[in-house]
Amino acid sequence: MRQSQLLLPTLKENPADADVASHRLMLRAGLIRQVAAGVYTWLPLGLRVIRKLENIIREELNRSGAQEVLMPVVQPAELWEETGRWAKMGPELLRFEDRHDRDFCLGPTHEEIITDLFRREVHSYKQLPCNFYQIQTKFRDEIRPRFGVMRAREFTMKDGYSFDLDQASFDRTYQGMYDCYCRILSRMDLDFRPVEADAGNIGGSNTHEFQVLAESGEDTIVYATGGDYAANLERAVGAPPSPRPEPGEAMHTVDTPDCTTIAAVGELLSLPETQCVKTMLVRGEDGPIAIVLRGDHELNEIKVGKLPGVTNPVTFAEESEIISAVGCRPGSIGPVNLAVPFYVDEYAYAVADFCCGANEEGRHHVNVNWERDLTVDAGRVVDARNVVAGEPAPDGQGTLAFLRGIEVGHIFQLGTIYSEAMGADVLDQDGKPLVPIMGCYGMGVTRLVAAIIEQNHDEVGIKWPAPVAPFHVHIVALNYGKSEAVREAADALYQACLDADMEVLLDDTDDRPGVKFADADLIGIPHRITVGDRALKEGNVEYKARTGGEAEPVPVADILRRITQED
Ligand code: ATP
Ligand code: MG
Repeated sequence: MRQSQLLLPTLKENPADADVASHRLMLRAGLIRQVAAGVYTWLPLGLRVIRKLENIIREELNRSGAQEVLMPVVQPAELWEETGRWAKMGPELLRFEDRHDRDFCLGPTHEEIITDLFRREVHSYKQLPCNFYQIQTKFRDEIRPRFGVMRAREFTMKDGYSFDLDQASFDRTYQGMYDCYCRILSRMDLDFRPVEADAGNIGGSNTHEFQVLAESGEDTIVYATGGDYAANLERAVGAPPSPRPEPGEAMHTVDTPDCTTIAAVGELLSLPETQCVKTMLVRGEDGPIAIVLRGDHELNEIKVGKLPGVTNPVTFAEESEIISAVGCRPGSIGPVNLAVPFYVDEYAYAVADFCCGANEEGRHHVNVNWERDLTVDAGRVVDARNVVAGEPAPDGQGTLAFLRGIEVGHIFQLGTIYSEAMGADVLDQDGKPLVPIMGCYGMGVTRLVAAIIEQNHDEVGIKWPAPVAPFHVHIVALNYGKSEAVREAADALYQACLDADMEVLLDDTDDRPGVKFADADLIGIPHRITVGDRALKEGNVEYKARTGGEAEPVPVADILRRITQED
């Protein structure tokens, strides 16, 4: 491609509203342009990267035996009603009516559509296992689209769905997809980690996310320093707490005027936060529910959202609701004689002689002991907290440490939730109906572009890894318009690259050398060949790899061989 003909609107300045490096660089390097919040046009350079990713994804999925289909973006409400998700999905699902007043949505995911296809077209156990995928546009009306294409409203996803006859067969399929995801991300030169994760809206259990390690990532990943354990903080668990010590002195109540935080109460009473418990009220189906945590721990909204009776997603009760439910303001709540039901985190339950709010303004109980001063109903001791860095790993292999990650893939074990709800069964060997076990496998293609840039850039621009680069070779011709020698040499080299099937971009613009070099660094093509009068006089061009090293003279005759060697 000749750069003079390419729509490549690079920007010198950092765009004002781009908070992360990948978003800034995608705008500056002319990869994307925003059309509406979370909705983007992909320009030629950006689209070339998408195509590279899609090719890698297709090659690996096809190799693993999955077959490609293409389902519609527009989905009828009836299918979503069959699984109950029409009512369950919140405003993220963009709904609309057609001219006949029929309800539709823009597909945020495709479980309903694939399960409908399956029940219509697959009837015999002999056709299983089968595994379908597509690479397609999704729409999710995200509450806060941000970080460019990382959290967009319209984006490209690879989504896949598998159907197996039994658990053993499904386990093989799931492992196959897990391995396939690892191969795909390795081929993109990404530093990533598969981690245990929460299943979210899709349903099912035992899921894995594929997290690309990056400081700018929205997710916190927890991993064991001494072993294989790795999980999203949303779901990470710690080791069981040590047994609770025996109770000491009798419980009594003390004045704690103006102490509304654990830190203030702890300081007044000379108690560490680990010796206090804190009580928070979340909304439940029948009024507020209290969650009791050790003073130094944070509430985990994903875990709490799953507790029976709690409304999901979790919302916290406001001060007025708290006062009318328990008779005091938030800083003085405690589990003793509490007027609302409560759950207690297992770590808070392991503390003896603790301090807690007395449900009276400015008063706290001290030396409180579980099962002596208050009882806890069966099933009410739960895991409700975020694990903390430095605590022992659940499997005893070292301690837990934190990293930031960008979720680029998520694979789910769906069980028979969808196949059962939609009556998608097949006939087994004896002619009896059998409900297949499903899996589903997502990968964010457009988010991957951003994730790759997060891991591969410096202060001047993108550094594309060769397998995903929009072009392989960038010929920067200095003074192309005026110097015949340069024009001839650059054109010849360009033609030689094309003849060798190399993806080559020729900078034949009239820009000044400084502008050309700055743009070359910004768009980050792996191999740069500079053609200029001075070097040409010696029979040379200049070679520079975007990943580093000084520019060095290379004889014109050797340059293509040199590039092949570098790869
Ligand atoms: P998140 O927790 O980031 O919202 P999710 O759990 O909703 O993700 P899935 O439903 O598992 O995501 O979707 C599969 C993949 O699609 C994700 O791993 C991610 O790479 C991508 N993806 C999801 N939402 C978006 C979005 N708003 N913009 C771009 N990519 C997305
Ligand atoms: Mg989401």
